[in-house]
Amino acid sequence: MPQPAIAETVTDLRATVRAWKREGLSVGMVPTMGALHDGHMSLMKLALEKADRCVVSIFVNPTQFAPTEDLDKYPRQLAKDLACLADVGVHLAFTPPAAEMYPAGFASKVSVGGPSAGLETDFRPHFFDGVATVVTKLFLQAAPDLAVFGEKDYQQLCVVRQLCRDLDIPVEIIGAPTVRDAHGLAMSSRNAYLDEAGLAVARQLNKILRGTAAAIAKNGDADGETVRARRTLQQAGFEGVDYVAARDALTLKEWQPGREGRLLAAAWLGKTRLIDNVEIPAEA
Ligand code: AMP
Repeated sequence: MPQPAIAETVTDLRATVRAWKREGLSVGMVPTMGALHDGHMSLMKLALEKADRCVVSIFVNPTQFAPTEDLDKYPRQLAKDLACLADVGVHLAFTPPAAEMYPAGFASKVSVGGPSAGLETDFRPHFFDGVATVVTKLFLQAAPDLAVFGEKDYQQLCVVRQLCRDLDIPVEIIGAPTVRDAHGLAMSSRNAYLDEAGLAVARQLNKILRGTAAAIAKNGDADGETVRARRTLQQAGFEGVDYVAARDALTLKEWQPGREGRLLAAAWLGKTRLIDNVEIPAEA
């Protein structure tokens, strides 16, 4: 596979995309923070199925990290990431330095309501403003026809859909299923922080969520089952559980029996915070 072209500036990114558009080619985008794994690659493959050209941004976005979070130790491996893009056949990597995205004097932010309420926001209040701001910038910079986001970050996917709807951003948002390891653990760049013992506990998260979602679909008792799931997670070795919540799959408001739902959770293993979510089927 040929190496992807690399753009480090918005000017270069726009020049490449403009040339594609002049040729009548459609453009798909996959925003990432790098440390790429099979989950990211599945998004790129989907973008390449849906569009003629694919641009992947690799940018560890400082505005979505609080000062206490893992911005400095977040894994960075650009050479390896570029090899992944080449494997999949991505055409362009956008790898801006922080000063290209947030030059001195930068003073704006994009804030999305609706599905950003609660869940992650209760524990990371800065997070979705940071995501919405960088995604808006990336969409204005690359002007893609479509963009692919993972269901792994389900609330983020809902927030990005809301953002594009509310601000008339003409980018089709495509959600992609979560890629998991053989034990059901959702692939995540942050799994690299875990040792073998941590991985063994982490692999319980999906199993417990699946069991809980099935029970909720059957008995409709979201409150009882999520309290039970919290306890089960702690017994499995999770040291802190930020939330386990049953929400409407579309609006992220409280789930109602008979509606399609999503069971979402965030929990801590040492200093590593894991999130995951599974479907609550409408019919038991
Ligand atoms: P990140 O680099 O973690 O910000 O993720 C970039 C994109 O990859 C987001 O749309 C994520 O939802 C998606 N993603 C991360 N992990 C997975 C996974 N295991 N399966 C599918 N998509 C994923």
